[in-house]
Amino acid sequence: MPELPEVETTRLGLLPRVVGRSIRDVVVREPRLRWPVPRDLAARLRGTRVSAIRRRGKYLLFDCGTGHLLVHLGMSGNLTVVPPDRPVRRHDHVDLALDSGDIVRLNDPRRFGAVLWVRDPGHHALLDGLGVEPFEEAFDGEYLHRASRGRRAPVKQFLMDSRVVTGIGNIYANEALFAARILPSRAAGRIALGRFERLAREIRVTLERALAAGGSTLRDFVGSDGAPGHFQLEYAVYGRQGEPCPACGRPVSASRHAGRSTFHCASCQR
Ligand code: ZN
Repeated sequence: MPELPEVETTRLGLLPRVVGRSIRDVVVREPRLRWPVPRDLAARLRGTRVSAIRRRGKYLLFDCGTGHLLVHLGMSGNLTVVPPDRPVRRHDHVDLALDSGDIVRLNDPRRFGAVLWVRDPGHHALLDGLGVEPFEEAFDGEYLHRASRGRRAPVKQFLMDSRVVTGIGNIYANEALFAARILPSRAAGRIALGRFERLAREIRVTLERALAAGGSTLRDFVGSDGAPGHFQLEYAVYGRQGEPCPACGRPVSASRHAGRSTFHCASCQR
C-alpha cells in the first residue's frame, strides 16, 4: 500500500512535468474506483491550468483554477507521467492529457484509489478530520503524549489513526516503534512523555529515510517520471519474522493486531 513517502515521492516526481501546464483533456476508462469518478470531471478540468500540487496526509490535491482535483492512490494505485504514445495497459483507469503532450496516468489494479473534484479542501469530508502531518512543527512528543491520554488502544493503532497523525501506515509504524524501543501492543495512554519524544523523532527519521530512498512499499512502484524506482528499503523488523533483531540478535516476533501484521523484538521493545 502506498504510504506517505510513496505519495510524497509521487508528488515530487509530478511537480516539474505538471505544474504550470494546462489540462487539454481527461479520459476516464473506469469510473468505479473507491467512489465513482464524477461524470463532469472532464468538463471541469478541460482548459484549466495546474498551479500547484499539494499533499495532505495521503491525498494529493492538484490546484486547478476554480477547484481541486483530489487523488488518493488507495491500496495499489500509482500515478505516472507517460509520453502520449505509451500503450494503455490493464488498470489504466484515468488519464489527464496535458498541453505539453505528456499524460498523467492513474493505474490502480485494486481500484481502492480515488479521483474526485473538490471545490473547497478546507471543508471536505475526506480532509476535515485529518490530524497533524508528521513533518509539521506541531508534531512532537508532547503532542503525542497529550493526544494519547486516556487511550487504551495499542500505541501502534494510535499511530496509524489518521485523526491523530496523518500518513503513518503499517510499515513505518512498526519500524518507528522498533527504533524507539516501544512495544507495539503497549497501551498508548500509559506511555510517558520522554518515550513519546523519542518516538516522534524516530517517526521523522524513519519517514525521511524512506523519502530519501524514494518510497518503499510497492514492488512495482515506479517514480512518476515512469522510471523504475530503487526502493525496497532494508527494514529492521517489518516482514522479518524469525530473523535476527538487528540490535540484539534474538528472533523478531510477529503477531496480528486489528488485522495488520505487527513485528517486534520482545527483548528490545517494552
Ligand atoms: Zn532486539
